[in-house]
Amino acid sequence: MHDTRALCPACKNIVEFERRGSFNCCPICGSQYPLAKWGDTPLKPAKERGAFADFLIFIVKFFAVLGAIVIVGIAVLFAGCMFILNSHH
Ligand SMILES: [Zn+2]
Repeated sequence: MHDTRALCPACKNIVEFERRGSFNCCPICGSQYPLAKWGDTPLKPAKERGAFADFLIFIVKFFAVLGAIVIVGIAVLFAGCMFILNSHH
């Protein structure tokens, strides 16, 4: 099988990779790469998962800050109301 002509990242040569199972093997330096690197297989689920995790962390932080602001706001409001009520008497 010589259907995968591409640049080998290891030896920087344009080579015809040999298919070996689920790997492309460079005939010059012998490095093996998963077929998904050149193939049409869907890519980088790990990165998408990482981005999604970052998004989740951002949301959690956002709501944590929001919750803290709301609690402080309610406390200030409550204290203010108590102060106003007390000052009327
Ligand atoms: Zn190579």
